[in-house]
Amino acid sequence: MALPEFKLLRPRTVTEAIAFLHRHEGEIQICAGGTDIVPSMKQRLFTPKYLLDIRAIEGLERVRVTPGIGMELGATTTLSAIEDSEFVRRNYPVLREAVLTVASPILRNMGTIGGNICLDTRCLWYNQSLQWRKSCGFCIKKDGDLCHVAPGGKKCWAAFSADTPAALLCLGAEINIASPTGFRRIPLKDLYTNDGMARIKLASNELLTSIYLPESSAGWTGAYMKLRLRGSIDYPLAGVAVALKLGKGKVVEDARAAITGVNPAPHLIPDVANALIGRPVSEHLGAVVGELASRVAKPLTTSLLTPEYRREMIKVFAKRAVVKAGQGSS
Ligand SMILES: Cc1cc2nc3c(=O)[nH]c(=O)nc-3n(C[C@H](O)[C@H](O)[C@H](O)COP(=O)(O)OP(=O)(O)OC[C@H]3O[C@@H](n4cnc5c(N)ncnc54)[C@H](O)[C@@H]3O)c2cc1C
Ligand code: SF4
Repeated sequence: MALPEFKLLRPRTVTEAIAFLHRHEGEIQICAGGTDIVPSMKQRLFTPKYLLDIRAIEGLERVRVTPGIGMELGATTTLSAIEDSEFVRRNYPVLREAVLTVASPILRNMGTIGGNICLDTRCLWYNQSLQWRKSCGFCIKKDGDLCHVAPGGKKCWAAFSADTPAALLCLGAEINIASPTGFRRIPLKDLYTNDGMARIKLASNELLTSIYLPESSAGWTGAYMKLRLRGSIDYPLAGVAVALKLGKGKVVEDARAAITGVNPAPHLIPDVANALIGRPVSEHLGAVVGELASRVAKPLTTSLLTPEYRREMIKVFAKRAVVKAGQGSS
């Protein structure tokens, strides 16, 4: 499949990038590593007149650790750079585990953390060639007016299918967004809409510039587990991240769990801290978290695996991830 024609723009600064986004609103799209948007353009899911390559922007790939504050990852930091970071390995193991499951080593060399956070939602009826989609009469998310997954409804249920946001939610990550009026910093959890179409609350003239990992969650143990069709390279069809703050005797002092790959957004699981704080981790507590997670998971027929199986695997992975995170050193 060939790419549609487009004009490549390569800003050197965030200000220049925002100016391009503003000037060409409606005709321009951001490209970081391009590992997702380029295949999608080949499938004619996007046919922008301009593609904004943000990799030449100075400082956007910077990784900075500030004692007392935490770690800042520039949006174009590659997933490989995070994987190779000794600081991340020691302080934010749940993030490293999630990164290691993304795609393949070659794609992680190109793919960025910003692109992973802003990844488009996925559906069996959407991530197909133009001819394939045309033969089915298209769908609401692109070019059509019906949903094959939930016929009769007007909402798109395509699943958010990136791995790292579940881990980042467990770490209490925040993000920095540049716009024509300046910068704003928001919790990552407020970025997502839970709508398969307008998946993130970024205006078309805004750019994600960096991600903050707070020092307060440094040193938490963690685990990430995912279900995918091919073990060596595939998007999550269900993913669970767990991060625990362990005290003496490996008693849980704080805890978070999040899921991805099953709903149109990644979600923190409510009540996980209540269930775990003050207790040493056990299989029973893992099963409790599994139950809580499966209540939030709402998989539909957006993939080749059945919704029932994916929800069950959320339960299984949540239990295993809690047990694994509980084995971390205190
Ligand atoms: C075969 C294959 C397997 C894959 N498997 C996985 C997987 O297992 N798990 C997974 O999570 N992903 C997977 N991916 C998708 C992809 O490789 C990763 O998600 C990667 O991190 C995307 O980053 P990128 O920089 O390449 O994003 P791009 O493709 O450049 O961009 C992705 C989206 O984010 C937007 N965007 C990028 N950067 C910014 C920014 N700074 N501000 C605002 N918007 C931005 C783009 O406009 C685009 O909509 C897979 C891809 C392929 C081709
Ligand atoms: S959930 Fe429905 S509208 Fe959304 S991509 Fe799938 S078929 Fe299309």
